[in-house]
Amino acid sequence: MKIKSSILLSIVALVIFVIASPFIFNKSVTITDPHKLDADGNFILNEWVPTRDGAGPDWDYNLKPVQVSDKVWCFFGAMEMPTKENAGDMSNSCYIQGDTEWIAWDSGPSYVFAEQAYAAMSKIAKLPVKTVIISHEHDDHWLGNNYYKEVHGAKIIGPHSINANYYGPREIDGKKYPGMQTRMIKTLYQDAIRKTTLVQVDEHFKDTTEFEISGMKMEYVKVGYAHSEEDWFLYLPEEKVVLVADVVMNGRVTSNRDGLIIGQLNALKAIKARDWNHLVAGHGFITDRTAADESIQYFTYIKDRVLEGIEEEIHPDDITKHVTLEEFRNKDLYYLLSPGNVFRAYEELEMYEGDDEDDEDDEEEEEE
Ligand SMILES: [Zn+2]
Repeated sequence: MKIKSSILLSIVALVIFVIASPFIFNKSVTITDPHKLDADGNFILNEWVPTRDGAGPDWDYNLKPVQVSDKVWCFFGAMEMPTKENAGDMSNSCYIQGDTEWIAWDSGPSYVFAEQAYAAMSKIAKLPVKTVIISHEHDDHWLGNNYYKEVHGAKIIGPHSINANYYGPREIDGKKYPGMQTRMIKTLYQDAIRKTTLVQVDEHFKDTTEFEISGMKMEYVKVGYAHSEEDWFLYLPEEKVVLVADVVMNGRVTSNRDGLIIGQLNALKAIKARDWNHLVAGHGFITDRTAADESIQYFTYIKDRVLEGIEEEIHPDDITKHVTLEEFRNKDLYYLLSPGNVFRAYEELEMYEGDDEDDEDDEEEEEE
């Protein structure tokens, strides 16, 4: 009798679950008009939705390049999460002028974005893009790659993690798919995301590498697992500019969902060790010598305070109440992202055994 009622209960629960599933899972499962899709409802979706290649003119990103130094221009995105309203234009990307070509640093959230970025840069100098250099695998930074590949025949230099974690166009059971449906591909209006496909990185390096492209000296610095599984930044010694992407953000709270606090702090150290006058973050508008300060402060506070909380044996469920990072309350995305960062830091720092510098006393080991 007891067993029967539990089976009945399971069936009832299952029926409720099935009825509720369109609300629990992604809205696009039941929505046929892609214009109605919204950002939050479309973050993770394992089923395929039809390619949203519809009618209407391309989204106008209204891109205005900002000159950062003699040979570097950047596009600065909104301080928001990707939404259909900003069409994914919420990260920063740059153009570096070589003698005979442009070099692109990150390619933005879509093909249409990259196409319009190039059109804007062509008004400054009509040069082709032969090389695109990518900072990390998050899709607001590299979905313009296939524009440069298809139209300019550009070589894509970037982290190996893009090739490992994302796949490009492919065929399953005779059906053609344009590639994995990343967050942007699910979130954006078809007028912004059309023509975007995932292309692989052509060249990746094992470690920090110096090279010269079209007369421009560069150091492509590997910082490893920091903001994502594999982060790189680009240092231009002659320009005294460093393009760092998401290991630095200013004016907003970072998302450390995929990152590591200790990796972040190491990346910031490597950035500080270079001689630069301008820094372009992955998100945020500050480009002077203070541009990395907020990030340094944020990650230092989060590390110190979470470690303190662990020491005081604060329960993980309470750590976000204990570590609130008040100094950042007025920054964009604080309420959305900061508690998650703290919780993630707790998971990471619970295992943390201290800096190498602090490890000099072996007493603890000898106690056993
Ligand atoms: Zn990122």
